[in-house]
Amino acid sequence: MRVSRLMLVTLREDPAEAEIASHKLLLRAGYIRRLAPGIYAYLPLMWRVLRKVAQVVREEMDAAGALEALLPQLQPADLWRRSGRWAGYTAGEGIMFHLEDRQGRQLGLGPTHEEVVTVLGADLLRSYRQLPVNLYQIQTKFRDEIRPRFGLMRGREFIMKDAYSFHADEACLAQTYAAMDRAYRRIFARCGLRAVAVEADSGAIGGSASQEFMVTAEAGEDLILTSPDGRYAANQERAESLPPDPVLLPAGPRSGGAGEPLATPGETTVEQLCAGHGLDPSQVVKVLLLLARFEDGAPQPLLVALRGDQQLNEVKLSNAVTARLGAQHGALLELAAITAELLAAQGLDPLPFGYFGPQLEDRLLAGSRGWARTFLRLVDHTAADLTAFVCGANRIDQHLVGASWQGLNLSPDVVDLRAAQPGDRCCHDPAQRLEATRGIEVGHIFQLGRKYSTAMEACFTSEAGSSEPFWMGCYGIGVSRLAQAAVEQHHDADGIRWPLAIAPFEVLVVPANAADPVQADLAEHLSAQLEEAGVDVLLDDRPERAGVKFKDGDLLGIPWRVVVGRGAAEGRVELVQRGGEGSRDLQAHGLLDHLLPRIRRQRRGLLEE
Ligand code: ATP
Ligand code: MG
Repeated sequence: MRVSRLMLVTLREDPAEAEIASHKLLLRAGYIRRLAPGIYAYLPLMWRVLRKVAQVVREEMDAAGALEALLPQLQPADLWRRSGRWAGYTAGEGIMFHLEDRQGRQLGLGPTHEEVVTVLGADLLRSYRQLPVNLYQIQTKFRDEIRPRFGLMRGREFIMKDAYSFHADEACLAQTYAAMDRAYRRIFARCGLRAVAVEADSGAIGGSASQEFMVTAEAGEDLILTSPDGRYAANQERAESLPPDPVLLPAGPRSGGAGEPLATPGETTVEQLCAGHGLDPSQVVKVLLLLARFEDGAPQPLLVALRGDQQLNEVKLSNAVTARLGAQHGALLELAAITAELLAAQGLDPLPFGYFGPQLEDRLLAGSRGWARTFLRLVDHTAADLTAFVCGANRIDQHLVGASWQGLNLSPDVVDLRAAQPGDRCCHDPAQRLEATRGIEVGHIFQLGRKYSTAMEACFTSEAGSSEPFWMGCYGIGVSRLAQAAVEQHHDADGIRWPLAIAPFEVLVVPANAADPVQADLAEHLSAQLEEAGVDVLLDDRPERAGVKFKDGDLLGIPWRVVVGRGAAEGRVELVQRGGEGSRDLQAHGLLDHLLPRIRRQRRGLLEE
């Protein structure tokens, strides 16, 4: 391929639309162009990268026994109603693009394919003898992300590899899950990526194993917490840790745990309260009022209690709320803070914001027009474990000191709701402390269990002759996100430094002066020779100054550059490795022997390390 035929337009300046290095570089080097927020054209260079990534994925999935297919992107709403996900994916913060056809039937544009695959499995897989099966596809997915950003990292249209497996029993599912784990590690290593596997939130499904693969990078949107001994790594959404010990509050001698009033005018935050009275935040129980909106039924007011020095993990809260009310009310669509305006709209009296205690009474909800009339009360372990604490008195300008759960006549529903933090002690070994790294989620593997097969009545006949729902797993890789993550992990001040296995071209041949026929001829000859040897070569045949071509070469990030300059007259060329040290003078006729073994090794990525 010739640069002159590549419709290559490189930019000297950073485009205003890009915030992170990989996004800037892909735009500047002419790999992608934005059409609308989260919607990108993959230009010829990018498409070559994406095809290489897809090929690595394909080879490893095939080697693990998975079957490639291609499933419809237009999916009938009906299927999603059967799994119970239509409302959750289309209303509230739902991310499915949806539309109506000319007959008025509703359809969604596939953000994921569990529903489609489950009905196919039910249709085709009738007997345990046909199991296990693992079906995958590499395809464009559509998600109306609330905040599309960072180029291909969070697009609204992006390429994913998704696989779905069917099993007769849980042990077989666990085997395929482990095989996918191994395949994923090989895929990322072959693509030249350093990725770590972390425990992930498995949503409201509960119990099932789920693991994410994170490419570590400062620009990552996920926070990963790891133990220094390498035995624990989890997404913060899911991470558990030991909270710091609280500073003990002496129990109030006379109040019997009901708490003694303390005047706290204007002290509406934990910080103000503690500063005003010499308290420690770990002695306080703080109470948050939230509203959960569901697919069906009345919005549910929540009263959530945490120790004053702890932060709420919203993912854990959503899971806990869904576990308690999901079966009755369907998908949880939204969690929002209860505000004075929301109360007024319900015809409810104002509440003492800043002074809530866990004993806030249900009767305050009695006049509500549309909400459930009792609070769902959830208490984090850290708060539940306090034997004496300070909390709001549910009156403006007043707190209670020396309260206890018993003394307030409460029997808390205790759950893990706190966000683990860097520096916390680890559960497996309190001598270890969690460390934080940022990561880009490039893959996610998941034991779905029988959630979808039960909801959609997808069954097979077992060896014993009974009809049973399938055990299922699903396994995703963000192919386009992975390609950009590789740039985030491999670049320098001059441009991209592609890992060779996924570089659009392996070698760039640059005649320093294309107008010199000796240089031009030798460059042509070497390109042809490399191409014949199966190397992906790009020839910079433009009539530009050498400096311009070198600058573009660095920006493009092709791993090897062969410079055909003045030495061409004596049959000598210069070999430069992108990001390597210095250059090497070679006889042109020895170039192939020198380069081929190195390229072959680099095509294997980090596998041998
Ligand atoms: P995230 O938490 O980043 O929104 P997710 O958990 O919703 O991702 P999955 O449903 O697990 O994503 O999708 C499988 C893979 O697809 C992810 O691991 C990620 O690599 C990729 N992916 C998901 N959403 C996007 C997106 N909007 N743009 C590009 N890639 C994406
Ligand atoms: Mg995920």
